[in-house]
Amino acid sequence: MVIIPATSPWMNRMTNRVTNPAGTSPSSRPASVRTTMLRLLVVPLALSALVAATGCGTDDSASTTTAAESTTTVAESTTTVATAAPAAAPPCPAEAIQVVVSVDQWGDIVEQLAGECAKVTTVISSSAIDPHDYEPSPADIASLTDAEIVVVNGCDYDHWAEETAEGLDPKPVVVNACEVVGKTEGDNPHIWYGPDFVFQVAAAVTSQLETELSSVGTYFSDRAAAWDASMQGYRDEIAAIKAEFAGRTYAATESVFDYMGDALTLENTTPEGFARAAANETDPSPGDIQAFDQLLTSGGASVLVYNVQTEGSIPEQVRATAEGAGVPVVEVTETVAEGATSFAEWQVAQLESLNQALSGGR
Ligand SMILES: [Zn+2]
Repeated sequence: MVIIPATSPWMNRMTNRVTNPAGTSPSSRPASVRTTMLRLLVVPLALSALVAATGCGTDDSASTTTAAESTTTVAESTTTVATAAPAAAPPCPAEAIQVVVSVDQWGDIVEQLAGECAKVTTVISSSAIDPHDYEPSPADIASLTDAEIVVVNGCDYDHWAEETAEGLDPKPVVVNACEVVGKTEGDNPHIWYGPDFVFQVAAAVTSQLETELSSVGTYFSDRAAAWDASMQGYRDEIAAIKAEFAGRTYAATESVFDYMGDALTLENTTPEGFARAAANETDPSPGDIQAFDQLLTSGGASVLVYNVQTEGSIPEQVRATAEGAGVPVVEVTETVAEGATSFAEWQVAQLESLNQALSGGR
């Protein structure tokens, strides 16, 4: 188990606030890995437990770096996931443009949509850095300066990127995922967990690529089709869970997974006060915690969804209650899981573990 100092009960920051030490950091996932047409991946279910912790809270008072040793209650075995990666992108018939993506949750998608016709730089591509509170380095700002297109999450999630892009002259084209899907500041910012949102944002990115580099014919629409095909496993897994488990309940220690929960037509039974406190990054009241404990011990949640990048004594306590009550714990991550070579692979592995938890749960 992870030992958390008792300094703050809620969402203790597991890592110090970090500015990107190496300046710009292009995606750590080599393009060659993505060019395989069809890979058979063995994804350990506990994979997500291995990522360095970051989180949603703003409390920097306690900062420990703890290799997450937490066990997953779902299964310790491995599962086999078939994931198609898009076909290798052909060379670009024109000079590539510069695209900067603020966070890696969108970085892989943009890279695949752009192919060889854009040099894509992802500013935060390490799961050890907390996107919620990231402070850009001078090199990050410089990389934005050269961008023809900047892709940000928005919804106040990566405010630094929105602000930097706004202040540039000439101003790059900005694709703001939050705005694309009709959300606004104050809404749940975890847009990449909404399947419909993911496809909407991808379409907006493709559209801007086509506008910026109109001389390349069907290059971007071909890439979009290849990417879309590579997302089939993701769509299938969502459909499978929906078909079998619609209406089943889940509770969560924070809101990261909620758009996916909605898409899966699961019922979120997280006590309202607790969810509100988590969203506002404040401490839930003892009554909120008691309500959560009661929910878990009385069969009010089929599974507990747990963001391993946001740990603290309260989420840990909730998890312990779930484990004690035999409620399966499904681990998810805020950013692309360490070792995942694509957005689809990351998401499918998590959905598989949710599917398995729901299968075994009450
Ligand atoms: Zn978050």
